Amino acid sequence: MDHTLRHFYKKSYAEKLEALELSGLLDPKQCDQLRNQTLDLPHEMGTHMIENFITNYSLPMGLGFHFLIDGQAYTVPMAIEEPSVIAAASFGAKIIGQSGGFQTGDHSRLMIGQVAIENVPHMTEAIRAIEATKDELVEQANASYPSIVKRGGGARKVEVRTVQADADHTHDGAEFLVVYLYVDTCEAMGANMINTMLEGIAPMIQELTQGNLLMSILSNYATEALVHVTCAIDPRYLKTNGWSGQKIRNRIVSAWQFASADPYRAVTHNKGVMNGIDAVTIATGNDWRATSAAIHAYATRSGQYQPLTQWHVADSGELIGKITIPLALATVGGSIGFHPTAQLAHQILGYPTAQVLAHIVAAVGLAQNFAALRALVTEGIQEGHMSLQARSLAISAGATGDQIQYVADQLTQAPKMNLDTAKHILKNLNQ
Ligand code: NDP
Repeated sequence: MDHTLRHFYKKSYAEKLEALELSGLLDPKQCDQLRNQTLDLPHEMGTHMIENFITNYSLPMGLGFHFLIDGQAYTVPMAIEEPSVIAAASFGAKIIGQSGGFQTGDHSRLMIGQVAIENVPHMTEAIRAIEATKDELVEQANASYPSIVKRGGGARKVEVRTVQADADHTHDGAEFLVVYLYVDTCEAMGANMINTMLEGIAPMIQELTQGNLLMSILSNYATEALVHVTCAIDPRYLKTNGWSGQKIRNRIVSAWQFASADPYRAVTHNKGVMNGIDAVTIATGNDWRATSAAIHAYATRSGQYQPLTQWHVADSGELIGKITIPLALATVGGSIGFHPTAQLAHQILGYPTAQVLAHIVAAVGLAQNFAALRALVTEGIQEGHMSLQARSLAISAGATGDQIQYVADQLTQAPKMNLDTAKHILKNLNQ
């Protein structure tokens, strides 16, 4: 590490920029740009949010339209750098909306925490001791975080299991006693509150089991916060140039069957679903690493990585789509309350509860998947991507202002749509 960067975290913002320049990581012009830029998330805030802050990383945020969920219309903020995603989600939602929109059900919303104990001398007795003390553990967890109880939430139940690690040539397989704490975290995702509760009950668990505490931590595998969203599409809204609605419906079901049978396809299928899910999760200031980890784990629950959505034909002839995913989303906590763009996103959505927000996010994932499958089994994905891709290439080639549309239009006519061609068109334009 360059010595000028030592103790970077202790430096003022001006000193950080000076150090960056001295170290050669940035040139003087770039440092001046950082010095003079106006940030929507001010640097005082960034400095408090993360370590060694230097600037913001911006993502464009756009709006997904036509989302009709349980009879309520939503305009959905989506933060994403990839072209076509928002257009596709809106298109999918529009067709689904013509057939009555998305339906959801109530879902339970409990978050899970784990206390792991190793080297338990008498496992059967230890489990019996925990089983006999479940109520006290719940009480102790609630006493460790009383404010969530006042809000109507709190610890609900405790479970205990043993977990056996596989032995290999370097390790004996260790056995762990694991206590699972289930908590209603109300409007919060609950990472910090659960961790506080777990630390509150860990000494009791250690004493009851006579083992050694390994760790106390939230589990992001939010299997007690599963969200279900469905849609039923009348095939007459599916038909397009030269394709009947029934044919497209059947091909969408085949595309789903293909993804169920082949993980190579399932991963890409789910990538498309995550385009929508991540974009809304990010826009609303939620922890998208946590949701992604949980969702992908859930996709493997049968032992083979599976598509997150299911599609089939109902007796009525409608195309039925369904998504079931774990979603631990929040409307408070973390940076949601003070991040200006996250606040804007919640306002645009009409300040939904955490439960309704989860329905919206799952609906966007389903709409995204529907639009992608429909495109794939008809004209192919590239057709719809072309014009937006052309604009991205035009910007990458250096086009600005009116030049962007001009270069993009020329690119779509060109025999090869790539960066070289975009640069060539721009060069000719500037001559
Ligand atoms: P916070 O620590 O911010 O806790 C939630 C806050 O919201 C509390 O201060 C609570 O107040 C307040 N609050 C206000 N109204 C409500 C309400 N109606 N319901 C619930 N809480 C309310 O956030 P979380 O505990 O949710 O933790 C989320 C953060 O933790 C995220 O930033 C995440 O990235 C991060 N994180 C994630 C981890 C993981 O996923 N494994 C690990 C560690 C951190 P009060 O205290 O008065 O009840």
